[in-house]
Amino acid sequence: MNDKSIGWNPWHGCRKVSEGCRHCYVYRQDAQWGADSATARRTAQFDLPVRRDRRGRFKVAAGSMVFTCFTSDFMLEDADAWRGECWQMMALRRDVDFMFFTKRIERLTEVLPADWGEGYDNVTIGCTVENQEEAERRLPIFTQLPIRHKVIICAPLLSRIDLRRWLDRTIEEVSVGGESGPDARIADYDWVTDLRQQCVEADVPFRFHQTGARLLKQGRLYRIPRAHQHSQARRAGIDYKIERHTPLSND
Ligand code: SF4
Repeated sequence: MNDKSIGWNPWHGCRKVSEGCRHCYVYRQDAQWGADSATARRTAQFDLPVRRDRRGRFKVAAGSMVFTCFTSDFMLEDADAWRGECWQMMALRRDVDFMFFTKRIERLTEVLPADWGEGYDNVTIGCTVENQEEAERRLPIFTQLPIRHKVIICAPLLSRIDLRRWLDRTIEEVSVGGESGPDARIADYDWVTDLRQQCVEADVPFRFHQTGARLLKQGRLYRIPRAHQHSQARRAGIDYKIERHTPLSND
């Protein structure tokens, strides 16, 4: 990960929209202190990208990668009143890269800023597809949208997915991960390597970013502690042509 990577969560809380949300980690975390995850609220770090120190310099350094809205969905309906200011901050900080993932890609065109054009150069958008059904629903939309940097996130991986129709040079990376948490559903390693093969054939970078908590490999079910899910995925050594880094998934 970029050594200037930071997280920016301008709001917190979300509503579940598809199977991939069933064991959402935001809900799991909030449950520990009885917080209501379904009601989104602006956070104290809402204006983080434009905050300045006493000498007037931006606190978020030029060249940083800002992983955006990982305790919600940047396209969340309940955040429509707040998102405009976030676009403005992204437009102002062209010296910083922003990346967010969404399960609501169908909302993008209705919430884009007027000066978006073919996309901001410094914004990467990830379309999450956890199974074939969501791939069929979201990717025909995603691939047609004006976005400068596109990635596909297959996480939590819930089924074998055929992405071939949507893999071309406009996709900068496919990132794959299993589900974490005590109730995690099983990810089959064959599904992972199948996605890798699709990426190799299309010459699209591929990343296996985490195993998830329950990984089925060659007929054996592995239970992998949270602390080892990312390192075990790296140890599999199956990433392909990676040039940039995507963050930890939010599932
Ligand atoms: S944060 Fe993501 S996984 Fe959680 S409910 Fe929202 S869209 Fe679903």
